[in-house]
Amino acid sequence: MRILITNDDGIHSDGLWALAEALNKIGEVHVVAPDRDQSGVGTGMTLLTVVRAIEVASPIDGVAAHAVDGTPADCVILATGSIYSEPFDLMFSGINRGANIGMDVLVSGTVGGALHGYLRGIPSVALSVVYTDTEIRYDVAAQVGSALGHSVVKLDSPTTPFLNVNLPPDVDSAGIRGVDVTKLGSRAYLESVEKVDDGRRTHYWIRHNRQTDEEPEKGTDLWAVKNDRVSITPLGPIVADGKLADGLSTVRDGVSLALGLT
Ligand code: MN
Repeated sequence: MRILITNDDGIHSDGLWALAEALNKIGEVHVVAPDRDQSGVGTGMTLLTVVRAIEVASPIDGVAAHAVDGTPADCVILATGSIYSEPFDLMFSGINRGANIGMDVLVSGTVGGALHGYLRGIPSVALSVVYTDTEIRYDVAAQVGSALGHSVVKLDSPTTPFLNVNLPPDVDSAGIRGVDVTKLGSRAYLESVEKVDDGRRTHYWIRHNRQTDEEPEKGTDLWAVKNDRVSITPLGPIVADGKLADGLSTVRDGVSLALGLT
């Protein structure tokens, strides 16, 4: 099984390599990731300048890696359109440092990367962990990624699977209370803007950190991670008829089993 991994936190992020290490045990992993943090770029792609990709040393034996001076979407476009000629069976984007839930999926570079895999007919998964001030742990998310890798490629789905998966923060596998197939909640974060005068000119810092005080609705991704549950949200047109949501019980059970929850 050939697996492509990208992310939006950049090629040096710990989450990316935690996932690459886990997936390397179940398939042939190729990493093509941005050379710097591209969080918040959504599905954007670079059309007005050239894009460069260089092969870089990988911390994991047997895993090839390329760094791209572009967006996660650029990475997937280059990986599938030029760097590699053999097709991929599966694609992951992540593990992202910070949740991508609710309407934030529309600004997420992590989800944006996975979208471009999905658009090319590759079963694609965006994988994220809720951010906290403490050191973020990726081990459980990597374990979830591995379980998903096994089950998603076997899905009997009328269309290409496109999943957005989020984990609660700071819990080991024993702290996860369950695995839910969810729908997107409302927007989790809004922006705050800081205006700064540096003595010559004014500039602004946009921060995507203002939590909304809405109480999340049960059944949504927001509710799931807030209640220490793994959230699996099917994205894409398949959601419209609910067919994939029904079929996802095997995926949910696979993750539950991997976490020792059954
Ligand atoms: Mn990110």
